[in-house]
Amino acid sequence: MRTLARVSGPDQDETAAAPGRLISRDPISGAVVGEYEEYDGAAVAAAVARSRAAAPWWEGLGFSGRAERLRAFAARIAHDINDLADLIHRETGKSVDDAFTELLPTVESIRWAATHAARVLRRRGVAPSVLMPNLAGSVRYPPYGVVGVIGPWNYPAYTPIGVITSALAAGNTVVFKPSEFTPAVGTWLVEAFAAIVPERPVLQLVTGGGRTGRALCRSGVDKLAFTGSSATGRAVMAACAETLTPVVLECGGKDALIVAADAELRAAADAALWGGLTNAGQSCVGVEQVLVAAAVHDDFVGELTRQARELQAATAHTDQPAAAYGAMTTAAQYDLVHEHVSDALARGARALVGGPQSFRRPFIDPIVLVDVPPSARVAREETFGPVLSVGRVADAAEAVRRVNGGGFALGATVFSREHGAEIAHALRVGMVSINAPLGFTVMPGLPFGGVRESGFGRVHGAEGLREFARSQAVARARFAAPVDVMTFRRSRSTLGRVVAAVRGIRGFAAEPARTGRHPDRRAPERRDPDGLP
Ligand code: NAD
Repeated sequence: MRTLARVSGPDQDETAAAPGRLISRDPISGAVVGEYEEYDGAAVAAAVARSRAAAPWWEGLGFSGRAERLRAFAARIAHDINDLADLIHRETGKSVDDAFTELLPTVESIRWAATHAARVLRRRGVAPSVLMPNLAGSVRYPPYGVVGVIGPWNYPAYTPIGVITSALAAGNTVVFKPSEFTPAVGTWLVEAFAAIVPERPVLQLVTGGGRTGRALCRSGVDKLAFTGSSATGRAVMAACAETLTPVVLECGGKDALIVAADAELRAAADAALWGGLTNAGQSCVGVEQVLVAAAVHDDFVGELTRQARELQAATAHTDQPAAAYGAMTTAAQYDLVHEHVSDALARGARALVGGPQSFRRPFIDPIVLVDVPPSARVAREETFGPVLSVGRVADAAEAVRRVNGGGFALGATVFSREHGAEIAHALRVGMVSINAPLGFTVMPGLPFGGVRESGFGRVHGAEGLREFARSQAVARARFAAPVDVMTFRRSRSTLGRVVAAVRGIRGFAAEPARTGRHPDRRAPERRDPDGLP
């Protein structure tokens, strides 16, 4: 299969250009979309220095000043959505419809961060302690300062913008390195923002590949937010460890869709296909495996294959409106999907829809595999293509065990009429969507992020805003302490009185057997005064 002739599109060295330069190409026609500077260490350091100088001004605008500018940024993207969707289409090869599907939640996530940052990040009070009741406590959420953002190519607007706007709304300035495959989209976004905030370089662009990314990790930014593969995430974390720069890692996934015995099968099949094939399967939260309860397995597979046979990838730029999705963005990604499918078939898997004939570089038609052995790469690694592996499980409980036993743990989707929440709560993944495909991606108030191989830290929602604010705890004496333990001037009886008070509060003073109270029982946690999750 590797010998298939390339219809069009660039080679593995698709971003190669003259030294210090980077070329972005249309993956379908191979046409040059733009040529960009490849920032070296000194150029990255200079951008970070400019960003640091701009940070106090941006923080000084306050929540309302920043929110006004972020709303204007969202309005600009909404106004020019056709132009930006066309650019995304040309630079990634995704269909224009998929570009719109990416941009609509992008606009919403900017608006959400602008609207909610003041409420989420306002100073909050903390109840005094029995040890020193004279102290008033509070938590502030000041920004880190300068945040470095490294982005992937698969959602070149939605993914980095979710991170960038959380960081900006929290009061940080940002130095953004887009993927070397999507510098044109990155440039569009940064120039659009600069037109709204011309006063200072609050959001800057550094274009380039891994070398530029490494330089950003070592540039002295106050926090680094990375989105990309788990392998690169490890390298980013190792580089940031040299300076103890805190990191957020949004890495790969191998999301499952669980079809319980009581699922609505038609809707579940539709969701599996949309979740697995949208953007040609190049989605971190794309559905890659479908785990179906034995009682409905055959009916579900019948419905899934019927629906899948109606779908196909584009064949060129022009027929994209009729096609379900567009091209593979990079030649390397096309080859990887090809390797995974060939390996699975060689190990005994069967293709019920598509197969070797699905590969028409740079397009791949839908592929539905069954009988995939656990040793196959497609069962263990992120495939990132329009390929669904369907597996039979005894019931939803077995599906949950399989998901929780896997390496990746980003998102999951559950279809069940009666037990959706129960199944969702048993899954150890970052996000779950019940009876709807990838619902969490279109709700900007929900935090986004994974666990295990899928990384850590959160973007979007209140958790995403707090990710880009360093909490600062403040304890303030309101009056002289009646019983002061934190002085060498305390009397011998002082500690004894406080020990007695602490034991009383924690229930040690009373006989557990007589009161029926567990000796370890604590006073109930105070509710978050913000009423936040
Ligand atoms: P990648 O890891 O190849 O590259 C990601 C970014 O890291 C690029 O900008 C790249 O230039 C940069 N980079 C490469 N080497 C680097 C280094 N040593 N130091 C610093 N930066 C370096 O990933 P990709 O192929 O661009 O994106 C696809 C991957 O991203 C998939 O695994 C996908 O699941 C994941 N992804 C995750 C999320 C999420 O939110 N969890 C979202 C989108 C994509």
